[in-house]
Amino acid sequence: MTQPNQVLLKEDNRVGADLDAWLAVGGAEGLARALREPAAIIGEIGQADLRGMGGAGFATHRKWAPVAAAPDGDKYIICNGNEDEPGTFKDRFLLEHTPHQVIEGALIAAAACRANHVVLYVNPHQPASLAATRAAVGQWLRHPRFAELERLVGGPVSLEVVPSSGLYIGGEETAVIASVEGGFPFPRRKPPFPAEHGVRGAPTVVNNAETLAHVPGILRHGAQWYRDLGVGNAAGTKLFSLSGDVLRPGLYELPMGTSLESLVFEHGGGMLQGKEFKAVFTGGPSNTLLTKRDLDVALDFDSVRLRRSRLGTGAMIVVSEGTSIVRKVAEYVSFFAQGSCGQCPPCKGGTFQLMRLLNRIDTGRGVHADLEALENLCSILPGSGRCGLIDGAVTVVESSLHQFREEYEAPLTA
Ligand code: SF4
Repeated sequence: MTQPNQVLLKEDNRVGADLDAWLAVGGAEGLARALREPAAIIGEIGQADLRGMGGAGFATHRKWAPVAAAPDGDKYIICNGNEDEPGTFKDRFLLEHTPHQVIEGALIAAAACRANHVVLYVNPHQPASLAATRAAVGQWLRHPRFAELERLVGGPVSLEVVPSSGLYIGGEETAVIASVEGGFPFPRRKPPFPAEHGVRGAPTVVNNAETLAHVPGILRHGAQWYRDLGVGNAAGTKLFSLSGDVLRPGLYELPMGTSLESLVFEHGGGMLQGKEFKAVFTGGPSNTLLTKRDLDVALDFDSVRLRRSRLGTGAMIVVSEGTSIVRKVAEYVSFFAQGSCGQCPPCKGGTFQLMRLLNRIDTGRGVHADLEALENLCSILPGSGRCGLIDGAVTVVESSLHQFREEYEAPLTA
């Protein structure tokens, strides 16, 4: 059985908003090193191969480097804690139980980039996370290392909590920026990327809360230590939000590269009531489903991509034989339809149409023409929106159609 590595979820660093408790378990040592050796930070993060844990798996140091290289002036580090996807519950846990670790990661990013604004963007629908983060910010502002960071940056550094919109789409990075600026979280097309044109035009890094929570350990123990935590070529650990038809759903921190089978059957205790495993909606329900054939897949960004899916946030929603895939997909597409911000007509109308067709088929009112219409939408909608919401909705429909087509065809009446 693969053992947890306890980088993020150690019992003794579940310290809530108590900075002294965080310091007692080695907290602030990573920041101390960053302040001593600011020029080494980005290289160390690159060698550790820290990837973005919010979905895309983009190399963290490659987000930081252009902001660090930008001329001095206003620069922003945003910790994205606007978690609102079905089946994902990791960032709220980190912000509630170890907010100092996340904030230390953000302060290290500020040191690396010489950023003078640090924003903790937290979902207000998770009041315990919001309260713990606010309390933790107050304590960091009084800590001597914060004053050292200001000396390094060459002036005052703002450290503040901004409640997010709480909307799903509000977690998209350009929407985060719009929201931090005080507007509605409308996503926009990229480029320009946030590193070139972020908050009020300033160079900006947007990192997921889990990504930042890994940073203090890397600076404290070194890149090689972090790499060695993973399995094979995968580096570090990952939080997996395991839910659905498993015996022990929950949040698991495991080596990056742990197999899907190990997550579900060893850590998760196997299927509920002895049911048969059928599939997993991965990384939030906007990716290609993994099925029995994929139980051996290593859960890391590159290996999952080779199976034409994405690790995403690390959410794993397990479904058993006997569960209607059409119904599950209809539920998730309904979530996307409600979450569409409405800027792009193909997204607003397309997700609604997908939802309508899925519901017709699921409730036994579908005909062959509905299935054809569903397939037609899947071919014309991708790439028609300013952000990835519409593509995610199409991916889960297309994937389920491909892998479980008989479930779509069986209830058709004509
Ligand atoms: Fe909004 Fe959808 Fe367009 Fe994204 S694709 S910007 S969610 S309308």
